[in-house]
This record gives sequence, C-alpha cells and structure tokens, in this order.
Amino acid sequence: MPVERTLSIIKPDAVAKNIIGKIYSRFEDNGLKIIAARMLHLSQADAEGFYAVHRSRPFFNDLVKFMISGPVVVQVLEGEDAIKKNRDLMGATDPKKAEKGTIRADFADSIDANAVHGSDAIETAAVEIAYFFPSLNIYSR
Ligand code: UDP
Repeated sequence: MPVERTLSIIKPDAVAKNIIGKIYSRFEDNGLKIIAARMLHLSQADAEGFYAVHRSRPFFNDLVKFMISGPVVVQVLEGEDAIKKNRDLMGATDPKKAEKGTIRADFADSIDANAVHGSDAIETAAVEIAYFFPSLNIYSR
C-alpha cells in the first residue's frame, strides 16, 4: 500500500464537545501519523474557499455558517492508504447511516454537524493540505 497524506478537520461541534484527543486516538491507533496540526477559527472567506466545490449545493450556506461557528482543528495525516483509511474511520456523511465504531457514528449528531472532514482523493488531498499548511510546516517522520 502506498504511503499517502490526507487533510483532516475536526469540526466545531467536535471541538466544542472536548473530544479532540479521542479523535486523535482513532487516527493514531489505526496507523495514521499526525504530521502537521493547527487550531484556527475559519473566516467566512476561508470556509467558502475550502468548500468551493460545493458552492452550488443547497446546503452550502449552512455548511459555511456551521464551519465558522467555532474553532476547528486541522491536521495532515500520513500513512499507508491514508485517504481511504481516514474516510473509513470517519464513517458515512450522515451519522445515522455511519457504521458503529466510526467517528461520526460515535460522536456526531447530524449530517450538518458531523464532527470531521477528510479529503476524498489524492488530488483533493494535495489541494486541501496546501490550503492550510506551507510545506515547511509538515513534519513527516
Ligand atoms: N453536508 C450537509 N448536508 C448534505 C450533504 C453534506 O450539511 O446533505 C455537509 C456535511 O457537513 C459534509 C459536507 O457538507 O461533511 C461535505 O459534503 P460531502 O458530500 O463532501 O461529505 P463528506 O466527504 O464530508 O462525507
């Protein structure tokens, strides 16, 4: 399996619930290394830019409003098959449909407030990582 990097965001609902450490443990216990991390409060422009691919979707405005409602924690995860591994750990977008034992099934309340973001492909991972981290701030081990 190739070693990949993926962008993960712990969303405002999960930060407010004080479960950053619990989510980090899911990553670390499953072979994903945190190789860059920062906490920040996204501006409206930050959130709109990050989710630009969803601009025409009906949920876009609510998604942006939610993502700027409080601080988030953004990290780069590295490991074998990291993109799919992280998506598997996250579970389905709608926590009601997510498999038991996934982050969203265990910690998320709704499809809007669903605890985590994870890149969905190699190309999007590269763009999303560059959106938040200059390459000098990524510490691959
Ligand atoms: N979203 C939403 N309503 C929907 C679909 C998506 O609020 O009907 C939000 C949700 O927070 C999701 C994000 O938009 O995580 C991005 O949607 P995507 O389909 O990319 O889901 P993900 O990759 O996060 O599982």
